[in-house]
Amino acid sequence: MGERRDSGARGRTRARRDRGGQGRLVTDLRDEAATAFQEIFGRASDGLWSAPGRVNLIGEHTDYNEGFVLPFAIDRRTIAALAVRDDRMLRIASAFTDELVEHDLTQVSPDVLHGWSAYPFGVAWALGEHGADLHAVPGADIYIDSDVPVGAGLSSSAAIECAVAIALDDVWHLGLDRAVLARAGQLAENTAVGAPTGIMDQAASLFGEDGAAVFLDCRSLESRLVDLRLAEAGLAIVVIDTGAAHDLATGGYGERRASCERAAKALGVAALRDVRVDDLDRARGLLDDTTFRRLRHVVTENQRVLDVVRLLATDGPASIGELLDASHRSLRNDFDVSTPQLDLAVETAVGNGAIGARMTGGGFGGAAIALVPEELTSLLRVAIDGAFAEHGLEQPDIFRVAASIGARRDA
Ligand code: ADP
Ligand code: MG
Repeated sequence: MGERRDSGARGRTRARRDRGGQGRLVTDLRDEAATAFQEIFGRASDGLWSAPGRVNLIGEHTDYNEGFVLPFAIDRRTIAALAVRDDRMLRIASAFTDELVEHDLTQVSPDVLHGWSAYPFGVAWALGEHGADLHAVPGADIYIDSDVPVGAGLSSSAAIECAVAIALDDVWHLGLDRAVLARAGQLAENTAVGAPTGIMDQAASLFGEDGAAVFLDCRSLESRLVDLRLAEAGLAIVVIDTGAAHDLATGGYGERRASCERAAKALGVAALRDVRVDDLDRARGLLDDTTFRRLRHVVTENQRVLDVVRLLATDGPASIGELLDASHRSLRNDFDVSTPQLDLAVETAVGNGAIGARMTGGGFGGAAIALVPEELTSLLRVAIDGAFAEHGLEQPDIFRVAASIGARRDA
């Protein structure tokens, strides 16, 4: 059985990091993580590993339908400082909480995990399901810190999973390839946390590269990097975090997923990936209106991903604005996962110089992105702040993101 206890030894209490703001330099984060590790565990860490959050450029709610997605890893990361132990205990602390959680590795299973620690412990368990012998590998002490905003749809969950996955893969000498590590992260999230999410977030966090998006076929898990060429085009991608945290483990997300499964069953296909835009007319007669709209979103969104990938290569990022807008409309009208705050962010962005904007992530809260000429980013910020104030809404957190390198060992 796992044991939980408070860490009385910790001198510094840090409540959950303020959401977003300026972010911090990764070097600061690394230094802080190494120092905090020493304070908590009374020895130096063996190394530092990190994994980024992600923004999904386009391809929303397509991953669990075995379709296409086009996310990129962002310049906000979760760091894991780790040192191996000479027993089988896994002990994990995070800057977001005062709790130090520990479990015997041989006893870790989804039923004993809950709360934030289900993500990192779930990964250890999932690596066991993917071939690690949890009776033979050494235990470890791990400390986690992050500047990925939590619950904003930028996948702090994949960032923590992937940071822990590459760290354990390394110190346990598993040599698993990144597609398997992505599967392990997803298994942890689905089974240990209980959030029925797809593979996109982990793939973005593991496969990302500077300046590129990850075009992922969620059926085969084949991925290919696609150059964004934003700087060349004088464009920036801005995140507008509405501050309304989503909760993927309950409610709407699972319901949407279930209705996609129902549609696939009714249409006699393995997954909605197998339905084309041309098939929609025929499908309409076989489904109730709501299920048909869910289907239409997924099918048209898959096509939009393919179109964006093609346009990025031929005409560059300035040509994808209309597809981003269409994605948002489809998520709002057909998939019903937008919120008034996300709609306001998107409308205001497009009305103030953005060439395209959409909600990003699973929806029901979280963040929107806008593709905007660099020289208009300040104007955009002022316009969005103004619109939110006018509607009596909490100020969103607005910041630029850059496509960045995926999970790696830092030190
Ligand atoms: P998102 O992935 O959009 O940020 P999720 O609800 O999927 O939102 O995941 C957020 C959850 O992941 C947090 O509530 C927490 O349980 C866990 N988590 C993420 N990052 C950390 C961290 N650095 N330390 C502890 N828990 C974390
Ligand atoms: Mg998440």
